[in-house]
Amino acid sequence: MKVHEYQARKLLQEAGAPVPKFEVIDSVDQASAAIKALGGGRLVVKAQVHAGGRGKAGYVILSDNPSEIEQNCQRMFAEPMVSKQTGPEGVKVKKILLAPAVEIEKEYYVGMVVDRARGCPVMMVSKEGGVEIEEVAAKTPDAIVKEWIHPHLGIQPYQLRRLCDALGLSGDHAKATSKVMAAVAKLFAEKDCSLAEINPMVLTKGNGSGSGEILAIDAKFNFDDNALFRHPSIKELFDATEENPNELRAAEHNLSYIALDGNIGCLVNGAGLAMSTMDIIKLHGGSPANFLDVGGSVTKEGAVEAFRIILSDQNVKGILVNIFGGIAKCDVIADALIHAAKEVGFKVPVVVRLEGTNVERAREMLKEAAIEQLITATDLTDAAKKVCAAV
Ligand code: GDP
Ligand code: MN
Repeated sequence: MKVHEYQARKLLQEAGAPVPKFEVIDSVDQASAAIKALGGGRLVVKAQVHAGGRGKAGYVILSDNPSEIEQNCQRMFAEPMVSKQTGPEGVKVKKILLAPAVEIEKEYYVGMVVDRARGCPVMMVSKEGGVEIEEVAAKTPDAIVKEWIHPHLGIQPYQLRRLCDALGLSGDHAKATSKVMAAVAKLFAEKDCSLAEINPMVLTKGNGSGSGEILAIDAKFNFDDNALFRHPSIKELFDATEENPNELRAAEHNLSYIALDGNIGCLVNGAGLAMSTMDIIKLHGGSPANFLDVGGSVTKEGAVEAFRIILSDQNVKGILVNIFGGIAKCDVIADALIHAAKEVGFKVPVVVRLEGTNVERAREMLKEAAIEQLITATDLTDAAKKVCAAV
């Protein structure tokens, strides 16, 4: 589960990290009150969406002019944000964060994920913050310094010192940086995060009275869905409006559905079979429109819903149904196919490959139903060839 930057900032603040104050608005008319609450001055206006790359997309704007700030809010609310991390249609902005802008001396990266090979969390830091960290990792992996964290002991003071050293920070800057890192590590463990990122953590420009301040000015936290039951307060942060509506509908029916950008819809039982179905579609020159695992114990209702979801995707020009009847029974799927054809209507060719429990019965049922647009296949290769030819 993803959360917004403003929600992540609040968690970080509560965990003791230095985070500038901020206000969140959901309409332009709240802007002037927010500007006042922040005491005016130079502010940063940031769209709150579950996608990164906002800076480059023009959805992180600095300004000290209230009317300019309001104009930018207006624009962000009105025009969907298109960035490297969104599709070409972009994402709608429903909330905007306003915060005092800081003068940046240097930007750093602080992040944490689970290292699956080592079976423990790893904290990663880099002096090359602000820009896309994936690029740094690919081109100059040495610029990222890592510390692996004992799952029960948590991050140790010597590790914090090593990481601060790697960033070239000492004294008060190291102390503040340690607070950021300790807060990230604590939240990561306590709240079952799958990813935590502060990009950038900044050192602000110094003035006469000091040598600058360390602040976390962007925050991204993802949480492990399987652990959400332990964290009701995190679960409350869920924003359904940021999710793909079809993925939400699928989750309600216990279907695992992930939208992709191809044109062949897939309805498959079992994640492994779904993966190989997508592979064989690619092998024969096609491109899958989705990953869909209806699960082992799929019901007729679940399967009909699955057809609805697949067919609601305008890009779908053909469907491949690939069922291996183990626990799932082929006749149940055949029944669902017949119902879906009646209730939803097949606007596109549907290639069906069934094998396993009750397959004979299922084949008879489909033959009797004589559904237009339905093409039967003898095996998986045959099915993949047929659906690719059909689209
Ligand atoms: P992202 O592009 O979605 O990751 O959004 P960020 O919050 O990381 O902002 C992108 C970039 O905008 C940062 O890397 C900074 O360079 C810049 N930026 C963000 N906030 C401020 C600020 O308060 N002052 C200044 N000078 N730059 C900022
Ligand atoms: Mn960022």
